[in-house]
Amino acid sequence: MTQIDRRMVLTGGAVALGAAAFSETAAAEGAAKTVFDVAQVTIPIAGSNEVFPVRRIYCIGRNYAAHAIERGSDPSREPPFFFQKPTDAVQNVKVGEVADHPYPSLTKNYHHEVELVAALKSGGTNIPPEKALDCVYGYTVGLDMTRRDLQNEMSGMKKPWEIGKSFDHAAVLGPIQPVSKVGHLTKGKISLAVNGTVRQNSDLDKMIWSVAEQISKLSEAFELKAGDIIYSGTPENVGPVVKGDVLLCKIDTLPDMSIKIV
Ligand code: MN
Repeated sequence: MTQIDRRMVLTGGAVALGAAAFSETAAAEGAAKTVFDVAQVTIPIAGSNEVFPVRRIYCIGRNYAAHAIERGSDPSREPPFFFQKPTDAVQNVKVGEVADHPYPSLTKNYHHEVELVAALKSGGTNIPPEKALDCVYGYTVGLDMTRRDLQNEMSGMKKPWEIGKSFDHAAVLGPIQPVSKVGHLTKGKISLAVNGTVRQNSDLDKMIWSVAEQISKLSEAFELKAGDIIYSGTPENVGPVVKGDVLLCKIDTLPDMSIKIV
């Protein structure tokens, strides 16, 4: 074989091998499968066998003036702000159930924050407040559970306080009540009792940013989409719970939601 022949054979072989490799890759991509299953997080929808698929969990911080003051800020100068929890921090609680909620690791000061939660069926960017409620699919009662000691410690060091807010089971909520059944919630009592003693007691109309304004503000920073849920902030008198405590959360016109710390 001459040198030219040898080169032609080698080149042709390489092309053939390359083509074979390409077609295998294309076939593999066409039938792409995940290497293992990751469950889609969902929330039951009240009165339905359908479920709400969760995309992102946004939370509003310091959205009631009296809570902003108890957390050391001046609500007349510092507006509310946002943070997120991981989607799989969701703990679903059925209506009428007292769900076991595990006391989390690392903390010695575990706090309750009762909040109205809005669930979105659509989104967008730069949504004007007057259009924002069109995005809402429904509402429910939620608990933004917080490892307060870790949050404060990280906050004091000017580090992200993720560890205080974004841990397993930290996003507790009841089934979603569709707007078609409960309307939009702009006022009404919100309360939380521990072992029968009321600790948090306020009204949704005391929110600094209404749900419509929360959606509008969030959409300036992020593209909101169907499946996003928003914890709308907690009123004053957040406080610690210990193992054995039973928490009862109430928002006017929505079913109660209850957990026991275990
Ligand atoms: Mn909160």
